[in-house]
Amino acid sequence: MNDIELKAVVEEVVRKLAFSTHKEPKAALATRLEKGIFEDMNEAIRAAKAAQVELHQMPLEFREKIISKIREKIMANKELLAEMAVHETGMGKVGHKILKHELTAKKTPGTECIEIKAWSGDQGLTVIERGPFGVVGAITPSTNPSETVFCNAIGMIAAGNTVVFNSHPGAARTSNFAVQLVNEAAIEAGGIPNLATSVLKPTAESGNTLFKHPDIQLLVATGGPGVVKAILQSGKRGIAAGAGNPPVLVDETANIQKAAADIINGATFDNNLPCIAEKEVIAVNEIADELIYHMVHENDCYLLKGDQIDKLAKTVLVEKNGHFTVSRDYVGRDASVILRGIGIEPPDNIRCIIFEASKDHILVVEELMMPVLGIVRVKDVDEGIEAAKELEGGNRHSAHMHSSNIHNLTKYGKALDTAIFVKNAPSYAGIGFGGEGFATFTIASKTGEGLTNAATFTKSRRCVMADALYIR
Ligand code: NAD
Repeated sequence: MNDIELKAVVEEVVRKLAFSTHKEPKAALATRLEKGIFEDMNEAIRAAKAAQVELHQMPLEFREKIISKIREKIMANKELLAEMAVHETGMGKVGHKILKHELTAKKTPGTECIEIKAWSGDQGLTVIERGPFGVVGAITPSTNPSETVFCNAIGMIAAGNTVVFNSHPGAARTSNFAVQLVNEAAIEAGGIPNLATSVLKPTAESGNTLFKHPDIQLLVATGGPGVVKAILQSGKRGIAAGAGNPPVLVDETANIQKAAADIINGATFDNNLPCIAEKEVIAVNEIADELIYHMVHENDCYLLKGDQIDKLAKTVLVEKNGHFTVSRDYVGRDASVILRGIGIEPPDNIRCIIFEASKDHILVVEELMMPVLGIVRVKDVDEGIEAAKELEGGNRHSAHMHSSNIHNLTKYGKALDTAIFVKNAPSYAGIGFGGEGFATFTIASKTGEGLTNAATFTKSRRCVMADALYIR
């Protein structure tokens, strides 16, 4: 199968699975105090510290054996994990979460991405080696709970670290089940338990213990602005994968029919939970009507007008401490649920709600994380780039564009300066789904590491042998 055929298959699968329904998970959701799960955060850290000493003695080949087993565990449990996450959080789509787990299992890199550098010459041999930090503290979100645990665990173990998770309290059972599967994999590979640990009931307090503990050498946080701020103030080395509000710009040179399909596939993937997903559209006036036409008539979108848009804002946003934030009742929910919430009986198979608005409309400015897309009309590409830059909000996270003009694409890429820039494809191509490159669910936009992998979780060591070992 060539690349174009493969992309078409991915898009067809995404579309079909948009209508897969939520089922009760078959297995019990209760997590027991075993296989890496502890009552107390200090115990979880102690166990991971002891395991790291052993892991560090083991050959790289053995780390890879464990990682292969983790990949098998993900594949064997992908349906259950997807059902558990939707059941526990009430967010997302089971079918799409299954695809996210497959992506994690197949495309999260292991030890192969840790490179060494060497200089050999008259004065000997110098090598830069990448070594582990030790025990990593990881904070994970509710939006991709088990995917993030697996993706972080694979990268961190490949680098020779063990990891202690403080997962989102609203997704603790799903996240902890993933931690248990990591340990099951390690034991089945002939290794040791507690390569990943966690607490039964993660809280702000357990998170605080993790942040301050002297045995945690590196913190990695995947989440919104609150946790990013906390990590940057922690006084430790921190990798912060924060919020985004990715704009997608469509100019007059794009294939408009394809742009409409790509944008709706990206924006509705797991009900818009991925941080990289298209959160608002900016369309050059010349093609805006055509784009909306294809979205409505070929891509299962519902176009809201006038008062309906105000009603949507009043329903999906809530006022908190004087400013608006998204209502957790609507984050990651199906478009049909949101439509019913504003008193509209949804037509069959509606995937996304769209509306036209100005660039300062609250529903365009806020990171909604639901299948709702505001469309901002601009006179030309330059006005579009300015609007996109403003809406991305300086997160430097993700931005996308549909255009066949390489100069416009280049201008946009330079102006937005984001960790991910997808051109002429759905946003998920940026994490390796229907696009080249490895997968990750931790995109360190704020601290600049970008798409994280095992190499991100290593530190650099220079090893020098003077006046020997060169044989040239
Ligand atoms: P959230 O910010 O509510 O929670 C994320 C994690 O941070 C949770 O484990 C939570 O308990 C913890 N947390 C929150 N505030 C904290 C604080 N002050 N101190 C310590 N821990 C704290 O996020 P969510 O709703 O689960 O996920 C959605 C958000 O995460 C969105 O903004 C999304 O863009 C972002 N996200 C970013 C990435 C990325 O790779 N950059 C990936 C996924 C999600």
